[in-house]
Amino acid sequence: MTLDTKKLLEIDRNSVFHASTHLKQYAHGEIPGRIITGAQGIRIIDSTGIELIDAFAGLYCVNIGYGRVEMAEAIYEQAKKLAYYHTYVGHTNEALIELSDRIIKMAPAGMSKVYYGMSGSDANETQLKLVWYYNNVLGRPQKKKIISRDRGYHGSSIASGSMTGLPLFHAHFDLPLERIKHTIAPVYYRRPDNNMSEAEFSRYCAAELEKMILAEGPDTVAAMIGEPVLGTGGIVPPPEGYWSEIKQVLDKYDILLIADEVVCGFGRLGSDFGSTHYDMKPDLMTIAKGLTSAYQPLSGVIVGDKVWQVLEQGTDDWGAIGHGYTYSGHPMGAAAALCNLDIIARENLTENARDTGAYLQQRMNETFAEHPLVGESRGVGLLHALEFSSNKAERTHFDPALKVGPQIAAACLEQGLIARAMPHGDILGFAPPLVVNKDEIDDIVERTKKAVNQVTDKLISSKDW
Ligand code: PMP
Repeated sequence: MTLDTKKLLEIDRNSVFHASTHLKQYAHGEIPGRIITGAQGIRIIDSTGIELIDAFAGLYCVNIGYGRVEMAEAIYEQAKKLAYYHTYVGHTNEALIELSDRIIKMAPAGMSKVYYGMSGSDANETQLKLVWYYNNVLGRPQKKKIISRDRGYHGSSIASGSMTGLPLFHAHFDLPLERIKHTIAPVYYRRPDNNMSEAEFSRYCAAELEKMILAEGPDTVAAMIGEPVLGTGGIVPPPEGYWSEIKQVLDKYDILLIADEVVCGFGRLGSDFGSTHYDMKPDLMTIAKGLTSAYQPLSGVIVGDKVWQVLEQGTDDWGAIGHGYTYSGHPMGAAAALCNLDIIARENLTENARDTGAYLQQRMNETFAEHPLVGESRGVGLLHALEFSSNKAERTHFDPALKVGPQIAAACLEQGLIARAMPHGDILGFAPPLVVNKDEIDDIVERTKKAVNQVTDKLISSKDW
């Protein structure tokens, strides 16, 4: 089929409701569309023949890279054998059994069972229900509040969008839900006092959390949710000692910890999970994205033994748990996940994320740390961010109207590179597929440098800030 891009985009503008898009500008042709027609390795190609390096792995999910025939075959074979059956009342399938056993063996000690959904958002919705149910079983109906963090990202449904700590996801949707509170984000770059060490800042964050718990009433707070590394809120690794300080506060008040591993899980930081990387000791974990590298939609909630025992007891008192999706434990998702985990293990992609990730950090830091517009170059494993600032010493923000982040992302595109303008502040994010090699990292850094310098020159000559 020859694609008439213009015609297809016209139909698209007339018929597709796009995610996270300015609806009117797109529908009226004021912002461009792009039809992705194929992809291979770390590159995608569009209907006009433009090839782009995808340094964000889709939405940090295509961890094994694009175009894996082996994945297509695994999904096809599963579809031929058993495309679907539900998992209600003990029904199961072989792929799901193997996958669950494998996830539990990979997960930190004490994890017991995996519940499945289709997206990170619905998995976090499940988390909330499980935590509420847990406290009802324990006879603590008032212990229901969830503490998330400013700049956290946990999805865009009602509860998960409430847990997300970005104003765009709340305003005009009547969110967040009342029971969901946000404590400060552990962003060392934005520490309140310049002289604070990382460890002191971590203690400060823990003290702020404790203040909130005490203000709300410890017997009303059920759980805290956090990404091991803040993702969509700006790709920010936690300051030294953060998770252990937080965990001590949570334990003191009998509050559960939910690790949202949607981005960090399955290798991205150079470890199987962010929880193990930072020794978080969560009670519950959320997984999605890297579980199947997005070849099929599949998410999961890994339930720790402490919570599981209580859930079991609840069903003993009240009967079958009132929670289930038609597609929970979908065999094609499970088959894709199994093949994906095979590839990650066989090709040592977690180790590559650690080693090539260290190279990414080094190359970015040496290229950008001294750049006059780059306030901070930071990251871990194959996650990196450049945060731009109008005054490096003062760490001031650019005027948001200048849209410096989106300008730089657009300049990257001109260089044939996809890096993501993160929705919070002028931050450019990188999360290449875990198959990326050092030559490709060099290429990504060089293209980024050209783009950043191009926008820098433009800003300086226009004296826009
Ligand atoms: N949690 C985290 C940490 C995420 O990054 C995301 C998606 N970016 C989600 C949850 C939500 O996942 P989904 O978009 O699949 O609903």
